[in-house]
Amino acid sequence: MSALILDGKAVAKQTEAELLARVEQLKAKSGGKTPILATILVGDDPASATYVKMKGNACERVGMGSMKVEMPSSTTTDELLAKIDQLNNNPDVHGILLQHPVPAQIDERACFDAIALSKDVDGVTCLGFGRMSMGEDAYGCATPQGIMRLLAHYNIDIEGKHAVVVGRSPILGKPMAQMLLQKHATVTICHSRTKDLPSLVGLADILVGAVGRPEFIKADWVKEGAVVIDAGYHPGGVGDIELSALTEKASAYTPVPGGVGPMTINTLIEQSVKSGEKSLS
Ligand code: NAP
Repeated sequence: MSALILDGKAVAKQTEAELLARVEQLKAKSGGKTPILATILVGDDPASATYVKMKGNACERVGMGSMKVEMPSSTTTDELLAKIDQLNNNPDVHGILLQHPVPAQIDERACFDAIALSKDVDGVTCLGFGRMSMGEDAYGCATPQGIMRLLAHYNIDIEGKHAVVVGRSPILGKPMAQMLLQKHATVTICHSRTKDLPSLVGLADILVGAVGRPEFIKADWVKEGAVVIDAGYHPGGVGDIELSALTEKASAYTPVPGGVGPMTINTLIEQSVKSGEKSLS
């Protein structure tokens, strides 16, 4: 039987229509104010510039405002911290996105952690991660939170399932594992020092590939009927998992492109609208 396609593009599109209506309502209640997302781009990496542009475009589609902050590649940690402090104290700004990666001379962790919890709509602070892991209120890290929203949309059962997350980065693997744990999965986290990855992958009822290497996870490692989530995106339109051979074997999977990617931006925007609703209504 063909696997169910977890269509992130369609879910994001549908959610954008709902967000547009929420922003309109907020405008009506607050005398014309909209949520505003500040995006900070440091340096001139073309891929980062494209991501920031895509995020600004998504704000526009739901009627939200965005404030673009661009800083030169010579920016110091102190200069970036001062900018974040300014945005934290600007009541018109409801969310702050610091585009990763920043130039090497900047202490990225210190800058992420300087973002006020109430404006951490991309879910990148240690405080937000800790609160989320403890089941307390916090905005989730955008990519894993987007994956959780996609699983919820398609009513994928998580409780009691064995979830295997391949990758343990601060923005993906680690928060992903904690989110699945919060939903009562039994979670295995794999990384570059993991021994016998194929057999661990073979135990997964829910598999998340977040490795950053094209088609690194092979289709024949994957258990029949698994739910397969591929967070990767590489030139040529392939992810971190060999998906083409899984369209019959998996029970559900995220296509690449059009699966996880659109849900990441959509989650950032959804959390920005939520933050705007908290302070404007
Ligand atoms: P990352 O920071 O490079 O982390 C990669 C992880 O994979 C690390 O934890 C690493 O282990 C692990 N790994 C590397 N080689 C491995 C191996 N041979 N066996 C097992 N694990 C191995 O990458 P990331 O930022 O988490 O991104 C992961 C993927 O998601 C990339 O393809 C990226 O493009 C994609 N991504 C997509 C979105 C989106 O919006 N769709 C957003 C972010 C990222 P160690 O910790 O031991 O080094």
